[in-house]
Amino acid sequence: MNLTVNEIFYSLQGEGGRTGQPSIFIRLAKCNLACAFCDTDFETGNDLSVAQILNEIGRFGCKWIVWTGGEPTLQLNDAIVAFFKQNGYMQAIETNGTRRVPDGIDYIACSPKQHFDNLRALISRADELRFPMRKGDPLPDTAILPDAERYFLSPIFDGGRAVPENIDYCVELVKNNPRWALSLQMHKLIGIR
Ligand code: SF4
Repeated sequence: MNLTVNEIFYSLQGEGGRTGQPSIFIRLAKCNLACAFCDTDFETGNDLSVAQILNEIGRFGCKWIVWTGGEPTLQLNDAIVAFFKQNGYMQAIETNGTRRVPDGIDYIACSPKQHFDNLRALISRADELRFPMRKGDPLPDTAILPDAERYFLSPIFDGGRAVPENIDYCVELVKNNPRWALSLQMHKLIGIR
């Protein structure tokens, strides 16, 4: 079992419901969307076996993996998730919600970008739904969204810089729609990965 891996690094979860929790990020290459605001390099990668990845992440002393991308569901499958589970790892995934999430994932952070009318058909339940928002973007209709423990609005940054008008807009939306909460990209604010 091989994966094309863009990068592996150890840091703190920077956004959403697991913010601040130490995590091993495994960024898989490839994405099926092309979002205008995307600031992630996911085109390139090295082919690594799951055993090589296991060996690489063993040095971090942390038992939480975050599968990210790109879109990790393009490569991840049930058998790979089971392999890391058997080796003692808890696994979160950051997905754009356009594809089925493999069985065995412990925490699903779904961040839909576009075309999420049929999201429920692909993801019946998520631990969090997190929507990137610019000033003026409409609030998503929770009636058509999958069930989630938490619903976040995430103001879009300009590269590493916060955009006050996007933040102010999301703050007002959250105050007026208390089912939602604000998620800031903490890692960018404090200058970590
Ligand atoms: S889904 Fe994520 S990784 Fe893919 S293009 Fe959009 S922002 Fe970038």
